[in-house]
Amino acid sequence: MKNNANLKMQFLFLLRKAGIVDSQVLSAMERIDRKEFVKSIFSEKAYDDTPLPIACGQTISQPSIVGIMTQALKLNSRDKVLEIGTGSGYQAAILSLLARRVYTVERHSLLVNNATKTFQKLDLSNIIPILADGGHGLPQQAPFDKIIVTAASEDPPASLLSQLKIGGIMIIPVGQSDHIQNLIKIVKKSDGYDYQDIQTVRFVPLVAGTEKEQY
Ligand code: SAH
Repeated sequence: MKNNANLKMQFLFLLRKAGIVDSQVLSAMERIDRKEFVKSIFSEKAYDDTPLPIACGQTISQPSIVGIMTQALKLNSRDKVLEIGTGSGYQAAILSLLARRVYTVERHSLLVNNATKTFQKLDLSNIIPILADGGHGLPQQAPFDKIIVTAASEDPPASLLSQLKIGGIMIIPVGQSDHIQNLIKIVKKSDGYDYQDIQTVRFVPLVAGTEKEQY
């Protein structure tokens, strides 16, 4: 049985191997314990590079993908960030150490509730969790310096693109659900958008509407 320190060292090693070289991203991922965001039955796998099931049939993303997406956002401590797809809250927690404020939108009330509790427990007070259909973005707080979408859509939603500042970056998996999708980086210019492929990924789909679970 390996001890926790060993597991965490291996965790950082696998992140570096996956191409995460930004020291600020690595130290944020060292500080935020993934175990806090996975259900106890999966806690043994918390430091494995694998997605894991969370409530509502959703998943916490693979840590190397979380690192790659975070690194691609080129966060600045003054940034106002929008995340679509709170899920467990793990990605939002990492963003919160690297940005000024993180608005994170989730369509399942149970997941919003669970993530809110975890953020409070970890004293991450610059995250604002919101129950809404993130496909519309968050017009009342726009524009954003950075937008990260952690659910796949066929095309980047126009409303999200419109809520990005000029010079802002959006990271989003595009493609059909149940298929291999492309993780892309979009930079908003004054006269259009630059698109760049990062790598292939597999995310749960972006789904319209909200769900209010009983609990
Ligand atoms: N970022 C998460 C993993 C995301 S899984 C983490 O770190 O754990 C994708 C999440 O997107 C799921 O929780 C799903 O419910 C949510 N989602 C899907 N469509 C959505 C939409 N239209 N608006 C908001 N959230 C959405």
